[in-house]
Amino acid sequence: MGDKVRALTKKQLEALKQKLLEEKSSLMMNDELSAATNIELSKPEGGDEVEQSINDYTNSHLLRFRNREVFYGKKIEKALKKFDMEEFGLCTDCGEWIRFERLMARPTAEMCIMCKEESERDESNSFTGRQSKSLGKVVDLTGMMA
Ligand SMILES: [Zn+2]
Repeated sequence: MGDKVRALTKKQLEALKQKLLEEKSSLMMNDELSAATNIELSKPEGGDEVEQSINDYTNSHLLRFRNREVFYGKKIEKALKKFDMEEFGLCTDCGEWIRFERLMARPTAEMCIMCKEESERDESNSFTGRQSKSLGKVVDLTGMMA
């Protein structure tokens, strides 16, 4: 503790931005792929019941996959915007720099590890109280993280 994390260098920021852009383009590639598969699968071919249920299964699977991608895509967009505002790499909670290693592992991270751990502790403590209103949402998110 008390050890201030040094500001990210230009080079590090550049590497992180590159990483985000790469993630974004691979996400878009997947998206096109799953969109194409989706259309293919939802064509009502009047197949037998087994085939239909396999299609249903695959469709819902793809949908889940898609939701997760959309969710992640939004996080990437948000992170990229922060570059423009020169806020990238700063913890949204305490305003300190997030470690480069952490960002390389998870370029969409918004909090430093200490704040993140703290907020996770808070969440589990007050899970029923604070979050019951958006329970549906919360359940979705945990499903996506799994
Ligand atoms: Zn922090």
